[in-house]
This record gives sequence, C-alpha cells and structure tokens, in this order.
Amino acid sequence: MKKVVIVGGGIGGMGVANTLAQKLKNAEITVINKDDYYISGPSRPLILTGEQKYSRILRGYEEVGKSGIKVVIGNVYKIDPANRKVYLSETTFNTKKELDYDYLVLSPGIVFDGSSINGYEKYWWKNTTVYDPGMVNVLKQRLWTAESGSIIIYAPKAPYRCAPAPTETAMLAHTILTYRGVRDKFKIIHIDANDKTQPPVIADIVKQVYEKAGIQLVTNQEITEIGENYVVTKSGEKYEYTILAMLEPNRAPKFIEEAGLGSPFAEVRSPQDLRSPKYDDILAVGDAAKLPFPKNQEIAFESSQFAANKILEMEGISEKVPVQYAFVGWAYLGNLEGKLETLSLQFQLDLTKQPPAAAKDPQLKREYTIQKDNWEQAYLTKLFGYKSE
Ligand SMILES: Cc1cc2nc3c(=O)[nH]c(=O)nc-3n(C[C@H](O)[C@H](O)[C@H](O)COP(=O)(O)OP(=O)(O)OC[C@H]3O[C@@H](n4cnc5c(N)ncnc54)[C@H](O)[C@@H]3O)c2cc1C
Repeated sequence: MKKVVIVGGGIGGMGVANTLAQKLKNAEITVINKDDYYISGPSRPLILTGEQKYSRILRGYEEVGKSGIKVVIGNVYKIDPANRKVYLSETTFNTKKELDYDYLVLSPGIVFDGSSINGYEKYWWKNTTVYDPGMVNVLKQRLWTAESGSIIIYAPKAPYRCAPAPTETAMLAHTILTYRGVRDKFKIIHIDANDKTQPPVIADIVKQVYEKAGIQLVTNQEITEIGENYVVTKSGEKYEYTILAMLEPNRAPKFIEEAGLGSPFAEVRSPQDLRSPKYDDILAVGDAAKLPFPKNQEIAFESSQFAANKILEMEGISEKVPVQYAFVGWAYLGNLEGKLETLSLQFQLDLTKQPPAAAKDPQLKREYTIQKDNWEQAYLTKLFGYKSE
C-alpha cells in the first residue's frame, strides 16, 4: 500500500488529500497539521468590523476521517528526502515522531519573517495584522479604542500571501474610525514595497478610493526598521505610528530550505508539474511553492489538483481531475461612509493566457462581499466535510 504523507492540512494539503482519497485506491493518505483546527484566511479581515466571526471560519478535522484520510496533529520540523522520512514533534495522539512516505506533498503555507527589519525582535509585539488569527483581534481592539494618532499599514515585496489584504486593512480601518466618528483624528498611511498596491489589476481603483478616504499611499518603499512608535523606510523616511499593521516578508517554513528543497519557497519543476526538481517523490503546493502566480486560495487549490494528478499519473492511473490556473477574487474595500457593511471589488485573472488576462468590475458592491463569503464557505465545506452554523 502506497503511503502519501501531506504536510499541512490547509487549502492545498486538504485539496490533495480529498482528491487522492477519492481517486487513489489502496493508498494510505496521512495529513500532518500542527494544530487540531484550521482558521480560514479570506474573510478574516472582517473580524475587524464584526462582520465575521471565528466560529464560521474555523474547522476541525473530525469529519475528514470519513473520507478515509488519516490526520496526525504535529509540527513537522525536519524532512529527510534521501531516506523518505518526515519528523514531527510529539503529538496529542502520541503517534510516532517520524513517518515514512512513498510520496510527500508539502503544503505548510508561509511563515512571516521579520528578521530583515531592524528592531523587529524587540518591537514585534507593537505590530498587528489581519494575517494572524491572534493579532487581528488585537488590531480590532486598537482600532475600536484609540482616540487619535497615526495608522501605518505595510505590504512587503510581492509575492506575499493574499495580495489585497493590506489594502483591505486600510479601508476597514477607515470604515471603523468613520463609524466611531473619530476619522479626522487619525492619519492612515499605506506604505507599499511594490510600485503599486497589489494585485496590480485593481491598483487604479484602490488609488481613487484611497483619495476619497484620505488615505496616504507611499509606494516603492520597504520598511527597514521598526521602533517603539515609528518605522523607517529604505530611503530613510521616518513615519510615526500609534497603530502598526505591518505584514512581514513571507517565506516557506525553514525545514524546506534545510532539506535543500528551495529558499525562500519550495522549488517546483513547473506550475503543472509540482515535483521538486531533485526528487520525483516530493511535491510542493500552495503558498509554500515557488510559483509565478499570486499566493492565494484559488492558486493553492489549483496547484493541489495538479499535484494530485501527477501522483495519479505516477501510479499509472489515467483518470485526471480537471484543473487550470484561473480565478475570480474579491477585495474588501470597506465602506467610505462608515457603515459597518463592507463593499467589495471583484477581479479576475486567467493565468492560462500569455500574458495573463486580467479583468475587473470597477464598481464596489455589497453583493461581492456576500459572494466572497459563499465562496469561502463552499471551500471549507468541501475540504473539511461540514458546514458552519
Ligand atoms: C488574512 C488573509 C486573507 C486572505 N484572503 C484571501 C482572499 O481573499 N482570496 C484568496 O484566494 N486567498 C486569500 N488568502 C490566502 C489563502 O488563505 C492562502 O493562499 C491559502 O490558505 C494557502 O493554502 P496553503 O495550503 O498553502 O496554506 P494554508 O491554507 O495556510 O495551510 C497550511 C497548513 O499547514 C499547517 N502547517 C504549517 N506549518 C506546519 C508544520 N511545520 N507542520 C505541520 N503543519 C504545518 C498550518 O497550520 C496550516 O493548517 C488570505 C489569507 C489570509 C491569512
């Protein structure tokens, strides 16, 4: 019986696991996840305005077993490609601390790495972002209680996870402060290391909306230093903050680099052939993989299906699941008037075309916020086997 071990029980990992559980008979499919729950990302920014609740975006792994997928809770800290072994820290199930595999799929997502920012080790706790499930709550509390000051939002150089989230943060901060009647007591400054806000397809609309919201946009500037109440950019400019929402540069977890599989992301042969250039039996999907695409849920899922197809092919199974790199996305742009009813932009990217075909609806709509929620919930139901309340 072939053993498929999948590191990471998020979108990419559960995407591979569910497809292989259906199509690859006589295989043992094991997903290793460091927590015994998963908190979805896309609507996490709406925790800030109170439009989303943790209970709706959190899933456990209890129903996954019904599809024949084995889940092990543990933190992978090392892989040994030459001996086909995965090492994990002690788990609540008291399972073995090492697992053998015939195929290894890496889908641990990304980690936030502030090590290139001076002062980060000392002042990291001053920072909050929507990216982290704990920090988003701290950010919420700060936005709802601060009386005046300056809010700095930062996006590092792309690629980073979820391109529009820094913009979403800026617009949701504007919405909350307007709702509270204190917007005129705050400056909101979005510092971006890229030449425009991400994703580029909606940058022109974001610029117009920022002008209406009075949000200052500084592009082409990396943050190189953080202090107790200020950040400094590469050009030496200093910006004071009372609230900091800085996304650190992203990279794959270190065990990938340490196994010689790539840095800062896992190398793959191509977006369609996600095997490591060095090993036929190791594949990488999702945000941890080095793909020439944005790091988002659709790409994570699509890459997982290409990886599942490759494993099926290597096992001599001709049946494939249909998949291509193309997606519809939504960016929350808050509510200029300060109502706690977020409006969103919809955009599309078809990466099967050369150059990629991008499109958008320039209108902000409430309906798009609801579409995004339906889309996210559909993924969670499909991958984790049950609906939320
Ligand atoms: C705030 C936010 C907003 C977002 N908005 C959007 C959006 O609007 N649209 C969109 O398409 N995408 C969005 N995304 C991005 C989307 O969530 C990710 O691209 C997607 O989840 C990537 O899938 P993945 O499998 O690579 O990683 P994940 O889904 O993060 O899964 C990785 C899993 O691996 C586990 N893991 C990590 N390290 C280890 C280890 N060492 N050992 C064991 N387990 C480990 C983690 O616990 C996690 O469960 C957003 C993300 C965030 C955080």
